[in-house]
Amino acid sequence: MSSKIIDIHNHPNWHSHNIDALVKNMDEIGIDKTWLLSWEISEYEFEMSPSYHQYMDPRGLSAPLWMVVEGLQKYPDRFIGGWAPDPRDKNVRAKLKAAVEIHGIKVYGELKCRMRYDNPDAIITFRYCGELGLPVLFHLECAAGTLEKMSEGIYEWLPWYGGDISVVDNMCKLCPDTKFIGHGPGFWWEISADSDDEKTGYPTGKVKPGGKLIELMEKYENLYCDLSAGSGANALERDLEHAQKFVLKYQDRIMLGRDYFDRRQLDVLEKLDLPANVMEKVLHINAEKILQV
Ligand SMILES: [Zn+2]
Repeated sequence: MSSKIIDIHNHPNWHSHNIDALVKNMDEIGIDKTWLLSWEISEYEFEMSPSYHQYMDPRGLSAPLWMVVEGLQKYPDRFIGGWAPDPRDKNVRAKLKAAVEIHGIKVYGELKCRMRYDNPDAIITFRYCGELGLPVLFHLECAAGTLEKMSEGIYEWLPWYGGDISVVDNMCKLCPDTKFIGHGPGFWWEISADSDDEKTGYPTGKVKPGGKLIELMEKYENLYCDLSAGSGANALERDLEHAQKFVLKYQDRIMLGRDYFDRRQLDVLEKLDLPANVMEKVLHINAEKILQV
């Protein structure tokens, strides 16, 4: 495997894991450090069913900054702090500056809000992240047909985050000095050119050449990939042959993340039979470099 492992995507206090249980889980898997990310979303946008709340910390909606800070204070050597306040808050840049100075926040993430990430509030926030040296880690998910489905009636309401992949093109273009880390179904299904025909967030089958994600990786040096969650793991698992070429080609811009407590991403990376130096990059070097540590 690798001498060192960094998980760039996890959260405090969810799925029955408090901060001690998360550190215990990291020890079991062999993870040295985790990027401990917030997820802040307004109640109006939160789409989870009542049953989902058993997986969340009832002291706060989802994973607010204070839970991240709690983790950082208890295990300063094991966590890197991430916080993504809503860009629509007019005080967002001032608050970010304070979070960096007071709490040592190093990542803007996870951003998962019901808004296009190329709107002026988002763009100005991302540019400021570039100035602060914070990479932006975002969740993208907006299924084809969302508009049509919601047009069917006044009670139709679908979750969506960020917009479609064209938004990522605009973000990278408008914020050349900011590093973006893509995550989520709407990011990863674009690895294949047939994404428009997909009816599921986790498409299976061989990857069709010419995916929009590949186009963007070619076009923008400031775009990185987060392998976390079912979406990231699935994008590799669906076509191991393609996955190997993909990781080799973009070996300096792909990073291990989990967004959970298992070793699914590690297992699929092991199957790809990658050279040791490439594994080192994906498992920790790229994550260290992007934070300039
Ligand atoms: Zn997440």
